[in-house]
Amino acid sequence: MTRFPGRRVRGSRVAVVGGSVAGCATAIALARAGCAVTVFERSRGVLADRGFGIGLAGPAWREFADAGYFAAETPALPCRSRAWIVADPAAGEAGRLAWRQPLDLLLTNWGIVWRGLRERVPDTVAWHTATVTGVRDTGDGAEVTADGVPGRFDVVVGADGYASQVRRIAGGGRPGYAGYALWRGNYPVSRLGTAPPVPAGTGVSVMFPGGHAVCYLIPGLPGAQTRVNWAAYLPLPRPGGLLSLPPGTVGDGLAAVLDRVVEAHFPARWARVVRATTRAELALQPIYDLAVPRYATGRLLLAGDAGALARPHTGTGVTKAIQDALALEAACREHDRWDAVLAAYDPPRTANGAELVALGRRLGAAQVGRTPDWAAMDEGGFQRWWRSTVEGSAP
Ligand SMILES: Cc1cc2nc3c(=O)[nH]c(=O)nc-3n(C[C@H](O)[C@H](O)[C@H](O)COP(=O)(O)OP(=O)(O)OC[C@H]3O[C@@H](n4cnc5c(N)ncnc54)[C@H](O)[C@@H]3O)c2cc1C
Repeated sequence: MTRFPGRRVRGSRVAVVGGSVAGCATAIALARAGCAVTVFERSRGVLADRGFGIGLAGPAWREFADAGYFAAETPALPCRSRAWIVADPAAGEAGRLAWRQPLDLLLTNWGIVWRGLRERVPDTVAWHTATVTGVRDTGDGAEVTADGVPGRFDVVVGADGYASQVRRIAGGGRPGYAGYALWRGNYPVSRLGTAPPVPAGTGVSVMFPGGHAVCYLIPGLPGAQTRVNWAAYLPLPRPGGLLSLPPGTVGDGLAAVLDRVVEAHFPARWARVVRATTRAELALQPIYDLAVPRYATGRLLLAGDAGALARPHTGTGVTKAIQDALALEAACREHDRWDAVLAAYDPPRTANGAELVALGRRLGAAQVGRTPDWAAMDEGGFQRWWRSTVEGSAP
């Protein structure tokens, strides 16, 4: 790590590349530490349109609300259990309930979380709608080129997501493809008739050979009704350079991959949930992951998906992004010089990221890559399988 002991945190100029969850949370943390913060976000306006479901663990939710990163009354649906469902013709259209796993989660809409954070970014933070095309560590500072115009900063935070440019410049490498993708859909609950497909307070996991699907309800954006949110993990041999496909852009071939699996393996109730999704609502996210060697290199530091990128099975994307900001805020409270702040921030965030990436790989192998014979498993079998997967003791 480059040392620059003379530079005080308070009053320093910091650029944050990316204005999504990690960018907003980091901007809040740095503004509280007395930095002059500039956020560069390439997307115009509200980022909420693509909002799918996210789950946050109850303790994390309360920690973020206590720390003032979002309001305790942020709309969310409590989730107390996960129903593990296995297709079984003898069990009827809902499938067999193999295990009801207790949970303490809050389910919400990505757009709600982002709006809550964005509202808390203080007015003192300069927000530029601009694409960053270059970042350079100059030794005594860093240069950020946005829309062709260079600017000088003391420190740059890469909060620029899974394909982060700042991570690459900081020597963090490139994410590797996991060999499978996530098909997702999300629509108003009224479309399925009066009875919601998922009981209140429950998330559902539908398990089948070579993959699984999850389904739960999430709040709509303000003024809109509750939404059904589902996601299915299916193998997809890499077609080469596949980026995330936002709603409405999934082609016939990729939609057909989903149709075939739904037809072959989904209990009728869950097949209906997926089939109620219009093509304009269908999205696809190829699954990548990456553990970075460092969260801080010279004048560059990483936050959110720009740092370690864990697979979505861990359900930690939003949580980790806000925890990174909290860790940065805590380091800035304890130390007033940047070298000490970065020395305090880097090792625990790097270790935490690596743990999540490893957990995501274990969950991916157990639930997609090397699925067990679900149909033969009873409740005890599910519990043992889950424990050994999470603990890393699975053979
Ligand atoms: C519009 C949107 C919708 C999402 N919806 C969901 C969801 O429903 N459920 C879910 O689990 N996760 C969702 N995510 C991903 C989720 O936000 C992340 O996995 C996690 O919260 C970590 O966020 P992040 O801020 O690190 O990365 P991201 O959310 O990926 O944000 C990175 C940001 O950096 C900006 N950026 C990238 N490169 C540049 C550049 N060169 N110059 C300027 N800006 C740049 C991007 O426009 C983006 O806003 C969404 C992300 C986005 C951007």
